[in-house]
Amino acid sequence: MKYLYDLHTHSTASDGTMSPKDLVGRAKQADVSVLALTDHDSIEGIAEAKTEALRLGIELVPGVEISVSWGPYVIHVVGLGVDPECELLQRSLSRQRELRKERAREMGRRLDKSGIGDAYDGAMALCNGRLISRTHFARFLVDRGYVDDTAKVFKKYLVPGKPGYVPGSWASLEEVVAWIKAAGGQSVIAHPARYPFTRTKLRTLFDDFKELGGDAIEVVSGNYTRDNCFTMARHAIDFGLMGSVGSDFHGPEHSRLEIGRMLDLPEGVTPIWHDWIKQDLAI
Ligand code: AMP
Ligand code: MN
Ligand code: MN
Ligand code: MN
Repeated sequence: MKYLYDLHTHSTASDGTMSPKDLVGRAKQADVSVLALTDHDSIEGIAEAKTEALRLGIELVPGVEISVSWGPYVIHVVGLGVDPECELLQRSLSRQRELRKERAREMGRRLDKSGIGDAYDGAMALCNGRLISRTHFARFLVDRGYVDDTAKVFKKYLVPGKPGYVPGSWASLEEVVAWIKAAGGQSVIAHPARYPFTRTKLRTLFDDFKELGGDAIEVVSGNYTRDNCFTMARHAIDFGLMGSVGSDFHGPEHSRLEIGRMLDLPEGVTPIWHDWIKQDLAI
């Protein structure tokens, strides 16, 4: 049977809807062999996921998806094979979560001004004391009937230029690559085809990332087209970066996409896992 990798998923430790335990169970059902849990700015779901993965006989890669301010833009960097005990990583992620709370308060104020009251309290209640994200605001707005679905909330309120959008001010690319390295992990540019960048801007990002010691880019991501995959494969090869694959699964109600169901990594790209046995990252 094919060895199936899914190296980008979310649980209730960030903005996913399944607990880490249930997420691992679903991955097992979907025949995933190696699963990375990569919650936004949090490694708090890893211990629970690891226990369940051991029980079910599936390989769990401890991961994280970190928000990065790159100039005026926000991008995401995935760390794979990070040591959850690393103090620098723990400290830095808790700082990111503090920044998320500050951003959430500002989002609440701005939404209030545009006629949507209680959004801060509502979103905070939905995140159950864990990390607060735009997704929680989106769910609150849908629950209150302001908009029909979360995709529309984003479009109307939560993206650049819209009333509830606050970019936030996250760590730099340099810092994030360094934290991941300090935690013994590998860094990956998450879903590069999704950024609203020109080809030149994207290549500047890959250049900066490579220079800083970054390892890979997501050549395959959940909602990529075949074209996206081949374009990102080309970039990976050009920059001497490895390729990663991840569904970016957030829960069954979030997308039609199943955990572990993605296009194959195009030929010619070095998979990020090619030397994992040697590095003792996951297996
Ligand atoms: P945050 O990290 O708090 O800024 O929230 C980013 C998260 O919001 C992403 O990881 C997605 O889960 C979600 N998201 C971003 N854009 C959209 C969109 N257009 N539709 C639905 N969810 C989105
Ligand atoms: Mn998310
Ligand atoms: Mn992301
Ligand atoms: Mn993600």
